[in-house]
Amino acid sequence: MSDAASFWSPALRGLVPYTPGEQPLIEGLVKLNTNENPYPPSPRVIAAISAAAQEGLQLYPDPQAAVLRQAIANFHGIAAGQVFAGNGSDEVLAHAFFAFFRHGKPVLMPDISYSFYKVYCGLYGIEAGIVPLDAALRIDVAQYRSPCGGVVIANPNAPTGTGLPLADIEQLLQQQSRSVVLVDEAYVDFGGESAIGLISRYPNLLVVQTLSKSRSLAGLRVGFAAGQRHLIEALEVVKDSFNSYPLDRLALAGATTAYEDRAYFESTRAAVMQSREGLSRDLSGLGFEVLPSQANFLMVCHPAHDAAALAAGLREQRILVRHFRLPRIEQYLRISVGTPAQCAALVQACRALVSG
Ligand SMILES: *Cc1c(COP(=O)(O)O)cnc(C)c1O
Repeated sequence: MSDAASFWSPALRGLVPYTPGEQPLIEGLVKLNTNENPYPPSPRVIAAISAAAQEGLQLYPDPQAAVLRQAIANFHGIAAGQVFAGNGSDEVLAHAFFAFFRHGKPVLMPDISYSFYKVYCGLYGIEAGIVPLDAALRIDVAQYRSPCGGVVIANPNAPTGTGLPLADIEQLLQQQSRSVVLVDEAYVDFGGESAIGLISRYPNLLVVQTLSKSRSLAGLRVGFAAGQRHLIEALEVVKDSFNSYPLDRLALAGATTAYEDRAYFESTRAAVMQSREGLSRDLSGLGFEVLPSQANFLMVCHPAHDAAALAAGLREQRILVRHFRLPRIEQYLRISVGTPAQCAALVQACRALVSG
């Protein structure tokens, strides 16, 4: 008998890949399960992508993504050489794990965090050194002192939404000064404090951000890392050993313009933060416990209602939220902040479920 799995490389057999949130094509769906931005990208971004589609697609894109990296650098007040751009921050994270974390020692990360970190560990044969969040589901940086091959945290954390002050990030960088500390800032634009301003002082700091959330460009697949030149060079070595053109011409044009349209960015992120505060008040009023959030989502649980049952009840009303069947958070729902109308629909449905 030919065993189909015998075609697979042995290392692949034990891998547990990441499970992305559902992307069903259901009309009228209130989709609050994958932390996308409820607003479309800037009209200027759409125009730039259309213009890029009119001209030059027969040519390869710039492998250095020079114009985009300069736009990101200008926005953050750093040098273009301190920026590495990739096909979504997931790709940037994967390259960073490969480049910095394979030292034969565990990489420290929270027990509850972005689950892709453990997936990259599996892919690259890195041991995950799990550090539990405290009882309030917060990262306690004092727990990150043991010898390690690196540290990765999300700030604000996902899926809890809770952010750390920069003083804590600095403590971490000093405690682990001989290892790369990777700070994934996917949600930082919704009220967190970015560590990008610290890169000139810490040679071990790598900050990763994405255009998928606060720039409304999840469909374009653009993310970046910021760090000192020696870290960026390592990422360039990995990229050019893997795929020299991770960002296509449309992505480069759209992402660059997203950084140029600052007014649109400011107004949409302010709208999301304002809706988050209203949603948090409304859900608290229904008896939900709401974790403090500096992200575009809320992590909530109801003392009298099972989270899986609530998720199923919402789904019947065509409202999707995320429920993780994971220890410590199985009674929580992660709810992305939608438009005011989507938030109102969610609150109305929750009210019916918790009172019915
Ligand atoms: C969404 C998310 C990412 C992935 O972003 P992409 O740029 O879309 O790949 C990375 N880290 C965290 C914590 C996220 O929530």
